[in-house]
Amino acid sequence: MEEERKINVSKVIITVISAIILILIIVLLTRVLTNQKQAAEYNVSESKTSTENVWKIKSADEINTNEAVSNKTENTVTENIVANNVVVENTVSQNTLPENTANGNETNANTTEQNNTSENIVANSNQTTNQKTTTNTKVDDKKSNNGVIWLTFDDGPSSTITPKVLDILKKENVKATFFVLNYSSANEHLIKRIVAEGHTIGIHGYSHEYSKIYKSKETFMNNVYSLQDKIYKSTGVKSMYIRFPGGSSNTVSRHYCKGIMTELTKEVLSKGFRYYDWNISSGDAGGAKNAKAVYKNVTKNLSKKRGNLVLCHDIHQKTLEALPDIIKYAKKEGYTFARIDDNTPMYAQHVNN
Ligand SMILES: [Zn+2]
Repeated sequence: MEEERKINVSKVIITVISAIILILIIVLLTRVLTNQKQAAEYNVSESKTSTENVWKIKSADEINTNEAVSNKTENTVTENIVANNVVVENTVSQNTLPENTANGNETNANTTEQNNTSENIVANSNQTTNQKTTTNTKVDDKKSNNGVIWLTFDDGPSSTITPKVLDILKKENVKATFFVLNYSSANEHLIKRIVAEGHTIGIHGYSHEYSKIYKSKETFMNNVYSLQDKIYKSTGVKSMYIRFPGGSSNTVSRHYCKGIMTELTKEVLSKGFRYYDWNISSGDAGGAKNAKAVYKNVTKNLSKKRGNLVLCHDIHQKTLEALPDIIKYAKKEGYTFARIDDNTPMYAQHVNN
């Protein structure tokens, strides 16, 4: 009996010990499994996070790339990300310059330009910074630009003509360049549209009034920077392209400051801007009486042996009417269209003041 009781007690003890060991094993296993699960979850979340980061970086890159596409021509540097900082200005004045005055003056410039066509400097884009714009040495053009047309529109935006010009360009899938003046808040959407539709926005000036802008280097540069800032606030694009009112060859500026164009052409280049004159004038600011004349002025001067930088103004009905036919003619003849960008040779005329 005693013997049997001892055996039973031993059995119970063994059972209890076994149970305890089993429980310990179970607890241990559970712990290990839980740890593994946690680790696995941690890894998942880690990889998720890193994927997100990669995606974020990627999308930032994409944003940069996208912006670079629209800003490339504008020679925008790293400030791109601060884009779309739209500020509605309280005191947006309409272009105070009567457009007739501007056009009259530009007509003079156009006439001068046409006389000086053979003296045009066609500068290679790679030599912009070192280029001596005051000489009329002809620098070889890039052959790849032969037969390219850069349509440029000055003096806008016009609330009536510019939207229709943009419509035509969109329909024809043609990119162009707009050298704008100061614009009202009512026309700000046109500035945004120019950029959104892939055109280049350039600086013509906050003002077009020769007596003010060509008075001194300071007044001219202020005129450029104030419009550059405004365009930047509207579009996020820091435009580095200038078209001098009247062109760099204008002689009108002599009345306000002797030698100013010589000074300004150097100054803008030293500040990283590029300036563009033209080698074909549509004559829409003066000589051309109607759409037919505008069409003729452009088409008869096109050449496939060079690049064609065409001066137009998106403030005239006749320009608007001539535009579809100009584009159709050029396409039929095998020309291609481009907007001004950093690869566009800097077409600069002979400086006469
Ligand atoms: Zn102008």
